[in-house]
Amino acid sequence: MDQPLLSITEERTIKVQVDFGRRVNLNKLEWTFGGKSFSKWKQWNVKANEYSGDSYISFVKEPAYSGNSTIIKAEIKFGLPYGTTDLSPRTIRVLYPKLIGKYKLEVKDLQSQKAAAATLKLNVYDEFLKYEEIKPTIDDVISKAGDDRYLAYKTIGKSSEGRDLHFVILAKDETAVDKYLDETLPTALENPAELLKKLENGTIGDYQVPIWFNNIHPDEVEGIDAQVELLKKFALEDEVTFKTTDEYNNKQNVTLNIKEVLNNVIILFNFTHNPDGRAANTRANAEGFDLIRDNAYQTQVETVAVNQEFAKWTPLSFIELHGYIEDFIIEPSTPPHNPNFEYDLLIESMIEQAHAMGRLVWPTQRLNLIQFRCLITGLAGMT
Ligand SMILES: [Zn+2]
Repeated sequence: MDQPLLSITEERTIKVQVDFGRRVNLNKLEWTFGGKSFSKWKQWNVKANEYSGDSYISFVKEPAYSGNSTIIKAEIKFGLPYGTTDLSPRTIRVLYPKLIGKYKLEVKDLQSQKAAAATLKLNVYDEFLKYEEIKPTIDDVISKAGDDRYLAYKTIGKSSEGRDLHFVILAKDETAVDKYLDETLPTALENPAELLKKLENGTIGDYQVPIWFNNIHPDEVEGIDAQVELLKKFALEDEVTFKTTDEYNNKQNVTLNIKEVLNNVIILFNFTHNPDGRAANTRANAEGFDLIRDNAYQTQVETVAVNQEFAKWTPLSFIELHGYIEDFIIEPSTPPHNPNFEYDLLIESMIEQAHAMGRLVWPTQRLNLIQFRCLITGLAGMT
């Protein structure tokens, strides 16, 4: 095979070749995928609520001998099991995880009963990680990272079914983390006026502020894998280029120098706020709660664990990655997701901070400073 990966969200054509050591009758070959003939792999039929549509595995180039050799070549197209790249319908969300796995592609010569086989992996998309694959991937990234940046893993608690909430800290160095937690944040909380003064007159010196990445809805699967990909880039590369728009909505590429980024921020990853939901591909946790509605009351173990860690960091920005919506929403631009938001206390600083974030062109110290000032002002307003 020319490559071993298949995708539920992308059509792929795999080139295969097989050599039985002699010329066999091509009409007497039996091709199977996962033990079933290609024609039995049928697309999901929404109306019938079953896999009874057209077959999505077929030859685009029928098996044929290559020149005078005994090598048989063919090309097999693996189409979309759901007939779409959009996996957002909830009926599909609970189905497609069952398709993920390794499958044997086999061709058998019915006359000699000899067979050749290879293994293909079918995934949602190549970067998709099952819950139990997340930790080994994080470990692998940390082991490959150079010593020019600080990376630390910890679990911040366990889910209701006992799965770890994986958490990674990425910073310039350990001193940056210590300074924020031991000096900058305590001053912001206890004496915001002093910190504002230091910011204004430039005597604060070298400081970094945390940005927290999160995913609370694990069935919006990209929110987790995007963080792992982000960790890989920020941990292993010197520069990262991404597509964005300028303030007039013109498309542009922006290149971040990671060293410069880490001179300004500490990046925190809470890959999955809801590990049991990742394992079951559900929005709710194992107790049936949508955790995004539990932040105020904190009735669930996952909510308590995340809020305890969150209170420790008080991050400058909390970036919650969801799936299946294109919009980028900055609080307080939507109605509150939880009760008891004290809008009269937050509105002033939050609006200004939202504007700063919306117009943000990374990584500028100036905007960072505006955001930080907003946060401190917000904290000061709450005391
Ligand atoms: Zn969501």
